[in-house]
Amino acid sequence: MTRPSRVVLATNNPKKLAELRRVVEAAGVDVEVLGLADLPSYPEPNETERTFEGNALIKAREAATRTGIVAVADDSGLEVDELNGMPGVRSSRWAGPMCDDEENNELLLAQLDGVPANRRTARFRCALALVTPDGEERVWHGTMEGRIADAPAGEHGFGYDPLFIPDGEARTSAQMTPDEKDAISHRGEAVRAFVAWLGEQP
Ligand code: IMP
Repeated sequence: MTRPSRVVLATNNPKKLAELRRVVEAAGVDVEVLGLADLPSYPEPNETERTFEGNALIKAREAATRTGIVAVADDSGLEVDELNGMPGVRSSRWAGPMCDDEENNELLLAQLDGVPANRRTARFRCALALVTPDGEERVWHGTMEGRIADAPAGEHGFGYDPLFIPDGEARTSAQMTPDEKDAISHRGEAVRAFVAWLGEQP
């Protein structure tokens, strides 16, 4: 594939867009990154797959078809070993269809009540998919290993960050600065792998 002059990140989340633009700029790759807000809107597809990769591909395929531009999309979530890898692709709505981050965190803590530290292992995963308008597809992955704390701590980040202690850290990922988290996070890893690949394309 030749390097496209622009790509669309299939998200309405300004933080994800800013993160991808930062990584592209840091890598010195000459590509313009658009968000969905820069293009005519379309209804977002349902995320019906059982894997992060499958759901990332659904979003990227829809964006490539709707916009005619090379599209990338990510999907991510938390896998808790004691819960057999759940909440997984259900991470954002673990406590119910309309729930917020706080309710998800409360439910997760309740489900791990009394579970000792050595059995609270977990990881965040991210899949980042690229789909071209003529149907070429690629996927990059990232993982951040860690464990679930006994109580929430920290004000940064989002989602399960107040409960997630990355391996090698004494703090939760919500107690880390955004730059510190980006450097080790599942999404940072996947985004950097994608941007490195983009930079290698002629
Ligand atoms: P999405 O990929 O942005 O839809 O994220 C799915 C869900 O996974 C989020 O709503 C969070 O609950 C969880 N999640 C994914 N990445 C993170 C993270 O970096 N920190 C905390 N929670 C995350």
